Amino acid sequence: MRLPYKPASFCAMAEETRPTDFIREIVAEHLRSGKHQRIVTRFPPEPNGYLHIGHAKSICLNFGIAREFGGVCNIRMDDTNPTKEEAEYVQSIMRDVRWLIDGWADQNIGLKHFDTVPTRVSDDFQQSAIRNQKSEILPEPLYTSDYFDNLYQYAVELTRRGRAYVDEMSPEQTDEYRRIGKESSFRDRPVDENLDLLARMKAGEFPDGAKTLRAKIDMQAPNVWLRDPVLYRIRHAEHHHTGAKWRIYPMYDWAHTLSDYIEGITHSLCTLEFEVHRPLYEWILDALELSAPRPRQIEFARLNLDYTVMSKRKLIQLVHEGFVTGWDDPRMLTISGLRRRGVTPSALRTFAHEIGVTKYPSLNETALLEHAIRNEFNRTAIRRLAVLKPIKVVLTNYPAEQVEQLDAINNPEDPNAGTRKVPFSRELYIDAQDFAEVPPPKFFRLKPAGEVRLKYAYIIRCDEVVKNAAGEIIELRCTVDLESKTGGATSNRKVKGTVHWVSAPHAFDTEVRLYDRLFTVPEPDADGDFKKHINRNSLKIVTAKCEPSLRDAQPDERYQFERLGYFSLDLDSTTDRQVWNRVVTLRDTWAKVAKR
Ligand code: ATP
Ligand code: MG
Repeated sequence: MRLPYKPASFCAMAEETRPTDFIREIVAEHLRSGKHQRIVTRFPPEPNGYLHIGHAKSICLNFGIAREFGGVCNIRMDDTNPTKEEAEYVQSIMRDVRWLIDGWADQNIGLKHFDTVPTRVSDDFQQSAIRNQKSEILPEPLYTSDYFDNLYQYAVELTRRGRAYVDEMSPEQTDEYRRIGKESSFRDRPVDENLDLLARMKAGEFPDGAKTLRAKIDMQAPNVWLRDPVLYRIRHAEHHHTGAKWRIYPMYDWAHTLSDYIEGITHSLCTLEFEVHRPLYEWILDALELSAPRPRQIEFARLNLDYTVMSKRKLIQLVHEGFVTGWDDPRMLTISGLRRRGVTPSALRTFAHEIGVTKYPSLNETALLEHAIRNEFNRTAIRRLAVLKPIKVVLTNYPAEQVEQLDAINNPEDPNAGTRKVPFSRELYIDAQDFAEVPPPKFFRLKPAGEVRLKYAYIIRCDEVVKNAAGEIIELRCTVDLESKTGGATSNRKVKGTVHWVSAPHAFDTEVRLYDRLFTVPEPDADGDFKKHINRNSLKIVTAKCEPSLRDAQPDERYQFERLGYFSLDLDSTTDRQVWNRVVTLRDTWAKVAKR
């Protein structure tokens, strides 16, 4: 069921290529036929955790459709569960959504659906908050709990129509009766009695679990969701948004369907697990005889990625049990983790575009995400020289006091990026991986009596390996071909390898965090014990030597440390010490591992 990985075809695709899929075809048809004049989608997270890359797929789909078809996408907190949700999560969700669609769909955000919902804050405030995406004011989303009054009125109406009843069975008994298709003895209560009990449930007269409101549909329905589902339950709990006002809380299907209707959602896009809920979604709209236009629920396959776990329930365990440093640990495939690692919103959107939207469950490769990042950063990242594991090189025939400023290209993919000067001197560092005292076959980097070119500089030859008493290499003594620089007599001389370097007296130290996947197997949760497969070596910290121009590095920029990968400043950086994250390596190092 795995999607084939075809880098070549992806290279040709840009984010701006307009996507097509079965959902967009339906949307386009509804506009063509005049069924809808304006498209309204929604992204409805439950604020019980941080958003992950699966949510990013849903955000890109819902906001993408609003953007492409000139519609609106509402952000609605699906906050029907008073005990599990926290205001902190609302904040993080807003930050993540805003970041992901920054500069992309800002005209199409439905924070408040102005037509039908009283605005919580002034339109002016919202407009400026939307436009000024960089400001720290987080705009107010919509909340399902805003509609609790409306939802209750609809429940009264349904009861009045004889299509709902107050039941007194315990949750366990209700489940059991639904499983075997047996009717509750309270099912045929008179309408007036139901209305009275419902009002008293609302007034807080009964303890938790004493009563429920259930839809009266069909206890023998083949689809168990239609076997008189519970619509309301009693919960004497504080709600983070409505406080102590409510003693009864609506269940998912009731709240979701009617919130969609209230907001004028035209296309309610959800993952495949909700396919079985669709008949109930439609039953609710029918039973209340709600007028057109009605929302239509359409399901698509959720994103599954290899080498990770996706659900909030599992991610929360990684955080609380200390396997990672927090929700925004750069190894986490949460939106905040990806952001902190240095992934850009546009790369994430390109990834969402490339994986597409289908009705078939599949497992996508994390390599596709890395591919989207590399592809973008190859075009945009500024090239710099840094050495992760330094070995000292002394150029014995280079004047001790001399310093040259050599020209280095900032980005070969972007002529406008220009050049910079890199200091060159008698003492350099190269990376330990670029030297082998006993080289394996086809080792085209530096070896005793071998030659290599230093990027943007000279060809050097290794004459002597100097070791300490413990036998560790402390420096390589080399001679430099002083004519081999660009413009020199031997500049065209060919040597097999080119390596990166920094000038030792000019370089400065930084902390570099090198990440690997969090799990060692493609499907960590396949045996239900994902923690067993955690990769204990997923973080390596080194002290790197960086070229001086990196002192001016900016958190918003992405850098290619030549031959080492793409890097971004971590928010742990201080004015005294930079901390770098490797966003992604230059090549897929796991492809090789898998082949072995
Ligand atoms: P989780 O199981 O991770 O807790 P959830 O589905 O409970 O996810 P919600 O907050 O309810 O999370 O989801 C908000 C929206 O994001 C829903 O419309 C849901 O369908 C969508 N979504 C969640 N996970 C994925 C995924 N892996 N791929 C695509 N869409 C997803
Ligand atoms: Mg959920």
